Amino acid sequence: MEDLIKRAAKDLAESKYAIALTGAGMSTESGIPDFRGPKGIWTTNKEAEAKAYQRYELFLNNPRAYWEEMLGIDGPYGAFYEEIRQAKPNPGHYALAGLETLGIVKCVITQNIDGLHKKAGSERVLEYHGSVHAVRCISCGSRFAREKVSVDELPPRCQCGAALKYDVVHFKEPIPSDVREESEKEALKCDLMFICGTSAVVYPFANLPRMARFHSSNVKIIEVNADPTPLTQEGISDYLIQGKTGEILPRIVEEVRKTQKHRS
Ligand code: NAD
Repeated sequence: MEDLIKRAAKDLAESKYAIALTGAGMSTESGIPDFRGPKGIWTTNKEAEAKAYQRYELFLNNPRAYWEEMLGIDGPYGAFYEEIRQAKPNPGHYALAGLETLGIVKCVITQNIDGLHKKAGSERVLEYHGSVHAVRCISCGSRFAREKVSVDELPPRCQCGAALKYDVVHFKEPIPSDVREESEKEALKCDLMFICGTSAVVYPFANLPRMARFHSSNVKIIEVNADPTPLTQEGISDYLIQGKTGEILPRIVEEVRKTQKHRS
């Protein structure tokens, strides 16, 4: 483990354009359960998984019923989102923000909807699956802060007249084109991809490491995760540092700082 931490620190310090890709595993140490880990929301509640698959269709067919469900009037989701909104970043989030301050990580592309990278100080964050802190119009693409939008009357409406939904991308919903296109550009541009806390099974996000690998055989792809993933098993990543992001990432940043001091 210690050797791999040193190796990752060296690779990061030598990179020209590193980006981070993150998933729900980043935030379990902030008290937000993931979906597919041993204590994951879906591992423990199959009904919640089935409902999640129907949510986008519900919005399209009956936006009022969608909002009632999301606000917790008709289900557990309102309370879940509230819990996410209250969560605080953990040492893993701060470590990634630190790598951006050091000029190493140029961008974080996250599947997380919790906004914790921004709360920790990361500035360039692409929220691939949206955010609980915002609502979005699927007709004109506008986004608004969730707390600025009144839900006294359901569904809330955009200035263009269409019903608003949470910015969160639900299953079977297309990824908003602005964030998808920017993420793909980053994946093709990077020379190091640092993938933290994701099972890498949700598509199209899981295509990003594959795009990077097939675009350039020189790109370095490093995973930090509790368990091996298809990226580990298929040799898409160069190596996996197995363990908790909240413990491993700060140790990597410490090593990077030592390497930089040594050089100056
Ligand atoms: P996932 O649940 O499929 O996988 C999480 C992975 O992280 C698992 O491999 C697990 O073993 C690992 N993990 C758990 N805790 C860890 C830790 N402390 N350190 C290192 N690894 C750890 O999640 P995913 O890959 O992000 O994909 C699923 C979807 O989950 C995404 O669409 C995302 O929007 C959604 N989601 C987000 C949140 C959040 O915003 N925090 C929470 C739950 C689900």
